Amino acid sequence: MSTTREQAAMLHSDLRAEADPDAIIRDGRRLDHAEGTSKPLRPAPEPQPRGAKVRGNRPIDQAEAAARFIAATEHEKMHDERLWDLRQKRDREMHGIPEWEELRSLASAIKEHTLTHLDEYLGQFEANARSNGIHVHWARDAAEHNKIVHSILRDHGAKSLIKSKSMLTEECGFRHYMASVGIEVIETDLGERIQQLDNEDPSHVVVPAVHKLRTDVAEVFSRTIGTDPGNSDVHYLAEAQREATRPLILNADAGMTGGNFVVAETGTFVICTNEGNADLSANVPKLHIASIGIEKIIPRLEHLAVLVRLLSRSALGSPMTQYTSHFRGPRAGGEMHVVLVDNGRSERLGLEEFWTSLKCIRCGACMNTCPVYRRSGGLSYGATYSGPIGLIIDPTFNARKYSNLPFASSLNGSCTNVCPVKINIHEQIYAWRRVLVNQHEVPLIKKAAMKAAGAVLSRPAAYRAAVASAETALAHLPRFVIYNGLNAWGKHREVPHPAQQTFHNWYQASRGSKP
Ligand code: SF4
Repeated sequence: MSTTREQAAMLHSDLRAEADPDAIIRDGRRLDHAEGTSKPLRPAPEPQPRGAKVRGNRPIDQAEAAARFIAATEHEKMHDERLWDLRQKRDREMHGIPEWEELRSLASAIKEHTLTHLDEYLGQFEANARSNGIHVHWARDAAEHNKIVHSILRDHGAKSLIKSKSMLTEECGFRHYMASVGIEVIETDLGERIQQLDNEDPSHVVVPAVHKLRTDVAEVFSRTIGTDPGNSDVHYLAEAQREATRPLILNADAGMTGGNFVVAETGTFVICTNEGNADLSANVPKLHIASIGIEKIIPRLEHLAVLVRLLSRSALGSPMTQYTSHFRGPRAGGEMHVVLVDNGRSERLGLEEFWTSLKCIRCGACMNTCPVYRRSGGLSYGATYSGPIGLIIDPTFNARKYSNLPFASSLNGSCTNVCPVKINIHEQIYAWRRVLVNQHEVPLIKKAAMKAAGAVLSRPAAYRAAVASAETALAHLPRFVIYNGLNAWGKHREVPHPAQQTFHNWYQASRGSKP
């Protein structure tokens, strides 16, 4: 059995910073950058692989972007290990709660009940929120959301906005819109700020810059906020970012947040963070705008306990987020607005096979466990939502553009097993494949190959004959028949040698005569 030291040495260096032999230790304590000399950068860091090429409405080539990510071996190793570590922590937390499965069933039932009475609970929330002094707005789509927020800011003469992480605003292309109308947006979540400074989208719903090595962050910060390019010490980088951003936060005209849960009976909403940045965004400026998807509603405060117990454990393997803040109305002398956004959710609610995807609480557990996501990085999906949840949400926004995504899965079902609200993710991924084939959004060559495979697999005699002749055929077929430009499968895989004996033959020989 390997020792802890040996195990640490096997980990990617980004994941064992605390065991760093170059760290400066004084009185048994690791010194941060302000107290000690920073650790020098390793020579020639691997360049960060970039995400999928997005060309208008053309289908995203996830496999191509994933291949580039896998070729960047340091990034791929770190990403895989970091996310698997989160998955293992999640498992440990789960085993500490005997009623875990009961909680999942309850959470699923709460969300399904709410979604099937959505109009009722949204109306209740609006009435209660208004009586709490909150201005409530409704946005049909992304464009309407952006315009509403802009008009609120314009009415207040606001020119700068501090903002906490919100996938909904990513969905709405909010930062680009604000830039086009001359309003400066400053992200306050560290990972999201890194992504903003690097002009990249978040690659994960909980840890937006998880695909970046420390050296990537050092490069981004040296380019944008003037840090030492040779210093990738995480303490130094975090502190430098804090010092650069804090004055912007203190002087911002308005603050914006998302919302994890909206409580109908109280007209309040709840935000869960680990950095406390949402509290800064909400409380430093006098104007607070919260943009929230309509599916985030729950009926009563007592339901919150069920979902909060599951959220952080599923996301990061920690029992609670550091901050779980309840917003009940504007503070004295301030103003609070909530923008409730549809942006395709009502339509999704009407999709018989896919409506339960609206139960998602954006914990990211399905991403952390997915073997495809862990090895290809979130930006390879070229969409706001990546990983298993992305595969079932993205096609609802644009079936053509995201038509390849449901095929980026091995359908192993691990995503479904870890989902705290019991979404049947892998079954929905499979169902999307069928829908996309019926909608003619799948390349003809793939369709023809699937049809041929289906014909063989559905006839036992044909299947056995194909298997029996496979080895001979593979040995004599010219290589280009399988490995050619038209066959995407062959671009990334080698056909393994068939087994000497098939399971069918073994079964016949070993058990065939037994009753
Ligand atoms: S689908 Fe489930 S596991 Fe995935 S992010 Fe949503 S709630 Fe979490």
